[in-house]
Amino acid sequence: MPCYRSAGAAAVMSADDITPSAAQVDAAASGRPTHPREPHAGGSVGRLNWLRAGVLGANDGIVSVAGIVIGVAGATTDRGAIFTAGLAGLVGGAVSMALGEYVSVSSQRDSERADIRQETQELADDPDAELAELTALYEAKGLSAATARTVAAELTARGALNAHLDAELHIDPTDIASPAQAAGASALSFVCGALLPMLAILLPPARLRVPLTFVAVLVALGLTGALSAHLGGSDVRRAVVRVVIGGALGLACTYGVGRVFGTAVG
Ligand SMILES: [Zn+2]
Repeated sequence: MPCYRSAGAAAVMSADDITPSAAQVDAAASGRPTHPREPHAGGSVGRLNWLRAGVLGANDGIVSVAGIVIGVAGATTDRGAIFTAGLAGLVGGAVSMALGEYVSVSSQRDSERADIRQETQELADDPDAELAELTALYEAKGLSAATARTVAAELTARGALNAHLDAELHIDPTDIASPAQAAGASALSFVCGALLPMLAILLPPARLRVPLTFVAVLVALGLTGALSAHLGGSDVRRAVVRVVIGGALGLACTYGVGRVFGTAVG
């Protein structure tokens, strides 16, 4: 049994701090939080990113479709025209979100796959150089040369490729995003957001349409702004003020454009 405690570490740590419980090791291995008060670890970071992406997609849906329907409502009281414009905006926006997400996640996945291929090749060509490289990476993290060598050797014995992907490229091969899934999720979140201004403009009687949509959209923007600030760990109140003022200005502009051009051109 090797002695893990150097003289310096022994002064500040008790044996309890150094030996993790079996539950902690288990949690760390499966990406769950390893400490009760830890807000997120491993897998839940990915989940938070997904949630944030969903909130941002919904936000896009609310803003762009609200702009369209309020603009058209500034020009006409014809419900059919408002509905058609809103629906076109909803479909167009969802398609554009899905395409954008598909392209960006695909290229990210392609580059991760290329990295994995190259690493596999390097490991096959020159395993000794790769072991030295891994040792250097752990030394750079602050381990002593001897400990770094032990860590690198044990990780290499367990699975050289995963050890290199983790330490060198920070890729988790079990967690590579699917472009189709990402595209579907962002289109869906856009549609969910877009439904709100659609309903708010179509359901009330004509003279209440615009004010009610204004209020509904600003409340919803405040909520999504607060949620995404909270998820991102930033100041909630500042985010809400920003998004509500920005949203109000945007809606006032599109309504103004609808009023001016609706009477001038129509
Ligand atoms: Zn390597």
